[in-house]
Formats: sequence, C-alpha cells, structure tokens
Amino acid sequence: MTRGHWSKLISDDEYRQKLKSQIVVTEQGCWEWQGYRHPKGYGTMSYRCKEWRVHRLAYHLFRGPIPDGLVICHTCDNRPCCNPLHLFLGTYDINNKDMAAKGRCKYSAASWPSCKHGHEFTPENTYVDSRGFRQCRECNRIRLRSPEYRRKANERQRRRREAQRLTSKVANG
Ligand SMILES: [Zn+2]
Ligand SMILES: [Zn+2]
Repeated sequence: MTRGHWSKLISDDEYRQKLKSQIVVTEQGCWEWQGYRHPKGYGTMSYRCKEWRVHRLAYHLFRGPIPDGLVICHTCDNRPCCNPLHLFLGTYDINNKDMAAKGRCKYSAASWPSCKHGHEFTPENTYVDSRGFRQCRECNRIRLRSPEYRRKANERQRRRREAQRLTSKVANG
C-alpha cells in the first residue's frame, strides 16, 4: 500500500492534541480558543489541508462526522468555546432570523443523544425552551428538588406574601 498525501501522516489523535494545546479552559468548562481567529471572530485551525472553524473541527474530532446541512451550536452560548461537550448538532431556524444572526439554532434530531449530565434525550425527557434550546427534563426535575432551589423559591414566596400583606393594609387602612 502506498502512502497518501503527507498530511495523512498526522493522525487524528495528533490533531486532537494540537487543538487542545491552543485552548484555555474557563471556570464554566469552556474551551476558549487562543489560536488564530478569522477577522469575523471565529477561531480557525487547519486540518488535512483545509481551514476549519474550530468548533466544527472539535465536534468532528471528538464526537464524530457532521452530517450534511447541519450546523454546530453551543449549549454555553460562548462562541469562542470549542469544548465538544458544549457543542451540539442543530439546524438554523429560517423563520427566526434573529436566532440565526446570533448563531443560535434549534436542536436537530441527529444531535448527540444525551444531556451534559448523561440523561438520554428521549422524546419524553426533552423539551425545547423559549430560546430554541433543547432541555433535559430530568435535569430540570433535579434542579427543582435541590435544597438551593427550594430555599430560593420559599424566599420568593415569602416576599410575595409580605408585599401582598402591605398592599392589603394600605387598601384597608
Ligand atoms: Zn462552552
Ligand atoms: Zn439531564
């Protein structure tokens, strides 16, 4: 067997290393690209003789090939981020120009199968929020049950009652 073009000698593993050597991990776990940025703002890296947008390349290298016609979106809303776990496959909602302009998109059915906490995105476990992002019901349930959330909800309710008492006092007084 003959060897192909020289660039084929670089393995995907080496490309993964190369990509990871040019990021800084933020507190939120975002991989912020420190390498070359296109004048339009997105990071680029060359891969097998082609320039790739870094978040697309990260998805391709760490999660798998990107089906034709789909775009890569961020769950973290942080555009320089290329953490494969913060990326999902989506489709642009052509009816929502605002969302498209902001680089936001809707989850595609071909997107990765579970939320970042590993719950499967089954139809029963999935809803799409007002921003067009896919959300995990299980995570939502866990959040609603957490003592932190309950404490805040109780606090809100207490304040509302307090405000109501004051208004009724004024009204009756
Ligand atoms: Zn991120
Ligand atoms: Zn979840």
